[in-house]
Amino acid sequence: VGKANTAEVATVFSVFSNPIYFSFVLSPPVSWVRVFSIFPLCSPLRSKRLMKDANVDAVDNAFIERELPMEREYQRVSISGEEKCGVPFSDLVDAAKCVVKALFIREKYMNRSMQNFCKTTTHALLLNVDSVFPPDAPVHPPASETHPYDHMDPKNMPPDTGYGCKMVDGVVHVYTKKTNMDKSTELDLLYPDLKEYIADMNVMMALIINGPVKSFCYRRLQYLSSKFQMHILLNEMKELAAQKKVPHRDFYNIRKVDTHIHASSCMNQKHLLRFIKRAMKKYPEEIVHIEQGRGQTLRDVFESMNLTAFDLSVDTLDVHADRNTFHRFDKFNAKYNPIGESILREIFIKTDNHVEGKYFAHIVKEVMFDLEESKYQNSELRLSIYGRSRDEWDKLAQWAVKHRVYSDNVRWLIQVPRLFDVYHTKKQLANFQEMLENIFMPLFEATIDPGSHPELHLFLDHVVGFDSVDDESKPEHHIFNLDSPLPGNWTEEDNPPYSYYLYYTYANMTALNHLRRRRGFHTFVLRPHCGEAGPIHHLVSGFMLSENISHGLLLRKAPVLQYLYYLAQIGIAMSPLSNNSLFLSYHRNPLPEYLSRGLMVSLSTDDPLQFHFTKEPLMEEYSIAAQVWKLSSCDMCELARNSVLMSGFSHKAKSYWLGPSYSREGPESNDIRRTNVPDIRVAYRSETLTEELHLITHAVRTEELDTIEEEEDTLTMGPLPGRQ
Ligand SMILES: [Zn+2]
Repeated sequence: VGKANTAEVATVFSVFSNPIYFSFVLSPPVSWVRVFSIFPLCSPLRSKRLMKDANVDAVDNAFIERELPMEREYQRVSISGEEKCGVPFSDLVDAAKCVVKALFIREKYMNRSMQNFCKTTTHALLLNVDSVFPPDAPVHPPASETHPYDHMDPKNMPPDTGYGCKMVDGVVHVYTKKTNMDKSTELDLLYPDLKEYIADMNVMMALIINGPVKSFCYRRLQYLSSKFQMHILLNEMKELAAQKKVPHRDFYNIRKVDTHIHASSCMNQKHLLRFIKRAMKKYPEEIVHIEQGRGQTLRDVFESMNLTAFDLSVDTLDVHADRNTFHRFDKFNAKYNPIGESILREIFIKTDNHVEGKYFAHIVKEVMFDLEESKYQNSELRLSIYGRSRDEWDKLAQWAVKHRVYSDNVRWLIQVPRLFDVYHTKKQLANFQEMLENIFMPLFEATIDPGSHPELHLFLDHVVGFDSVDDESKPEHHIFNLDSPLPGNWTEEDNPPYSYYLYYTYANMTALNHLRRRRGFHTFVLRPHCGEAGPIHHLVSGFMLSENISHGLLLRKAPVLQYLYYLAQIGIAMSPLSNNSLFLSYHRNPLPEYLSRGLMVSLSTDDPLQFHFTKEPLMEEYSIAAQVWKLSSCDMCELARNSVLMSGFSHKAKSYWLGPSYSREGPESNDIRRTNVPDIRVAYRSETLTEELHLITHAVRTEELDTIEEEEDTLTMGPLPGRQ
């Protein structure tokens, strides 16, 4: 089998000892596609591990796990020959250098803020992997026996450290003494320097518009698509057979997480309607609102609208998105007001109102109850902090604790709407720093002295991280650079740009994470809405600063970024039904393309109130995707597994849901008995990623060796100084 054979397609069987190679030549002479079946996937070590686990973990109470024969082999597609990627070596090196540089930038920002960076990529870059988790985590159902809000005694909370904190140039600094807050007592919390950030941002911006790099990445993405097609062609039956062999497990009873959903629209329209009708019947005389100093009962409110409970229907409620909301985010926002009345929004879907968010708490708890009933569905609900006043956090936490809004199936993300310009015009905020102080100071205070914000301390246990939300297609008039005013001097009418919001959120979160790690508390991640619409550079900020993003639609127009998101395996929570009503019709949604290329995508609902019809919006989302795009059961299970991996649920919960080795690499990490994803699929993904990373890093290294005497390159592939 060699270059000599340059004829058209010829099939050559050559018998090596074992395995058997089936090679066929594709023209031209240097590039080959080879398909061969190889060695067992499992090492003896893995079989042993399976034996050991088999009786320890009962995945479901009713189901005792049996040992399964591993799916041993599958058909691999490989390319051989010199210029494997179809471009001259010099082009490959140029592109590879840029890609590697970008990956180093992301690694730096993830590492500093204690967010996750893909392990396989870390290995390929020859960096050390910090193993945060113990390698063999015990696996038990993560059910809590007592309600987390039962014992709220400030005396039992971790003690006050006596630290002081204040915001300097938009970032909170922490000092060991309250009385003496200056450089001598400052804690080093490693928040990123503004200058460095802007320099990195510029490197990234130049890189994504570089023509040759663009075409290189585009070609690689095309290759990844084709390779997946080939994989499916050859292994579909095997994948299916592997799934069939697993007892008990199927798509319905694997864990799924709705990775992007807003709490204020987490119920569907029929649910909200029924709830409002029930409230009108049960509490007609309750004072729910103060209008010009006079209390209004629920009856008064509806009478002023000329409505009775009988009149109400889903049609009068009018919260569903329709064809009129397409490319009209303003109209979509108005859909949050039932019957077009903002007062109903305030009464029923806000946490901070005259009834202290009682109705909203009830309806969220009903949604939680449904999730618990379904058992396998989980949600990461977004709650808002606006940054208008300092007590927002305490009020929100008191709402959760007072109404006991908690479920094992739900974790919170805090969304910060980018509405500084609105509050500024209303004279609620004098400058941007005030907004940042309102958002972050209470968190530092609660971390320094939990007893000072007892509810907040408990509530934060279930908060995963931060989200940044608003209409991305709003025009931005300002470009973030070193001449931009610091937050304290941002007194303009204009809203700061997306990257400005993201940088300051990231910087404060990083400082906060360092402080929390010192105290043994969990850390937060950044998971903004990003690339739903608007300029491409939002995705650059997302790439540098966030652990994962929601939407990512615009990656379809940015091959370099898409390739980078693939190589770094950045999670993308996609909501095609939401996009279909707002920004991109369903059949043009890039999800199937991303999935085939191996990007880390999951399905999420965004706003069931506006987009879904059934009681199980997440299943509706999966169901429509499966039918429109003809997803296989394996694809669906892979999406579900991705959703758990990229979610903010605890390590303990994930080891229970995905298997104790889920944080390893390759098929080792998969446990088909829990995920229903065949090892073949996981192996294909991990081998493809490893090969892709190898192609890139190998090119850079080879070139470095060649030029080692010519010049000193700033780009080092070895471990960074001080990392060991
Ligand atoms: Zn959203």
